[in-house]
Amino acid sequence: MAIIEIGSITMQLNRKAIKNLHISILPPDGRVRVSAPEAMTDTAVRMAVISRIPWIKKQQTDFAKQPRQSDREMVNGECHYLWGKRYRLNVVDHAGKHEIKLGRGRLHLYINTTATLESRAFVLSSYYREVLKARIAELLPMWESKMGVTAADWGVKKMKTKWGSCNIQAKRIWLNLELAKKPPECLEYILVHELVHLLERNHNERFKVYMDKLLPDWRERRDLLNRMPLAHNHWLY
Ligand SMILES: [Zn+2]
Repeated sequence: MAIIEIGSITMQLNRKAIKNLHISILPPDGRVRVSAPEAMTDTAVRMAVISRIPWIKKQQTDFAKQPRQSDREMVNGECHYLWGKRYRLNVVDHAGKHEIKLGRGRLHLYINTTATLESRAFVLSSYYREVLKARIAELLPMWESKMGVTAADWGVKKMKTKWGSCNIQAKRIWLNLELAKKPPECLEYILVHELVHLLERNHNERFKVYMDKLLPDWRERRDLLNRMPLAHNHWLY
């Protein structure tokens, strides 16, 4: 993997056994990834990328607009995502414990109606954390025994540029809180990807052989994660 810079745009360049150059703009922050055929010269790669700069900038602008588009007000009728499905928020005035309860197509937010936006958002993000952790706790032992590896520690946190990470020395895995909003197969894909790092540090052929063997449809899962409509990405929790 190499980093190339054209004007103000920094890109990650991957050489692959493919026929055509391919440019991806990745959520959440509009990072640019260029996949180029192994035989293509650096100059030809640059020329191809330069010809698509207006398109790249347009995509990045769309990503940059996202937080504003998705500024959450945490009010009745607002759309929120859980496991790739859309729910309408239903705010219920409630003096006791603040919590979220899932109904048919509805996320019921039990909260004192005078509560601020921040405390409403906190209740929802705590809920996301809880459901994500519960699912990871189910998936992890299954994959650990299948793969013969053990994560010494794992956790969920907000991450701006990654869906997951793995500290190989500490055998510690972090998963992005945002995964609670994506289809569950995306979480499983990221989890398996991070566990494979306990077997292979780099994203090389050996890594891919593991992925192909463990999760033959990992590419589709990855594309699903990276292609979700913009409306799915609410980054302000
Ligand atoms: Zn990785």
